Amino acid sequence: MRAMVLHAPGEPLQLEDVPTPEPAAGQLLLRVRACGVCRTDLHVVDGELPTHRLPLVPGHQIVGETADGRRLGVPWLGWTCGRCRYCTSGRENLCDRARFTGYDLDGGYAEQVVADERFCFPLPAGYPDLQAAPLLCAGLIGYRSLRLAGDAERLGLYGFGAAAHIVAQVARHEGRRLFGFVRAGDEAARAFALALGCEWAGASGEAPPEELDAAIVFAPAGELVPAALRVLAKGGTVVCAGIHMSDIPSFPYELLWQERAIRSVANLTRRDGEEFLALAPLVPVRTEVEPFPLERANEALDRLRRGEIRGAAVLQM
Ligand SMILES: [Zn+2]
Ligand SMILES: [Zn+2]
Repeated sequence: MRAMVLHAPGEPLQLEDVPTPEPAAGQLLLRVRACGVCRTDLHVVDGELPTHRLPLVPGHQIVGETADGRRLGVPWLGWTCGRCRYCTSGRENLCDRARFTGYDLDGGYAEQVVADERFCFPLPAGYPDLQAAPLLCAGLIGYRSLRLAGDAERLGLYGFGAAAHIVAQVARHEGRRLFGFVRAGDEAARAFALALGCEWAGASGEAPPEELDAAIVFAPAGELVPAALRVLAKGGTVVCAGIHMSDIPSFPYELLWQERAIRSVANLTRRDGEEFLALAPLVPVRTEVEPFPLERANEALDRLRRGEIRGAAVLQM
């Protein structure tokens, strides 16, 4: 089968013919129909995250089909131990021995993939493959981030990529008010934020017209954390949704005082997946995607790195 393979961080993926993977006990062999391209893939390919496996096939937003015709989604969380204190307390996202798709396990930048059946999700029928793929990480992690933002009525979103474009729709469905923050001068992103239901959108250094109850930071830029604290009301939370972020600059304690909080979101639980995939068709979440053929995965990654993708990039097999 054909796959896009990472041999060394910092180098482009190579299109190669590799052996079809053999499913072990409990695993399914899936024909990949589409695979979303996530910012985490960029962090893996660029070496911003520690290398876990080489050579590696990236990709963790996989829409696949079993030999008997079942359509399943394969997310980032690929395996957990089921026994550690995190697994046994409903926090399998923090499992000590978790294995992640497209990082510890070969992922979906390929024509076929194997996946542990217990971690695959049935996908809502109304979504074509391309539109379903971004639900599997941008949607899931976005959903978990939104839950961790609590019942915030006035919600700020920093970085209008794939995750924010889905979260915005869920948040509006829940009756929240949205404020979008984009890179200064990025008029296209600002227009996208407004089109997704933000009542205000501006540059990340700008003050919104009123204080916010929570902010979710999707962009991997540490300086956005104090910037977000600065516009929070008392008791508000900044949720950092990415797996990697540049260093957070120091800031005066006054910005955190009055019970403001900063927290990160790590991975997902299967429960997040079940909840979000049930909710998505009710909103209904509509995903905007830009398709790329498998062999152009490097171009999709480059465009994502440069902030040029509107919505989500998806590889189509
Ligand atoms: Zn565990
Ligand atoms: Zn992801």
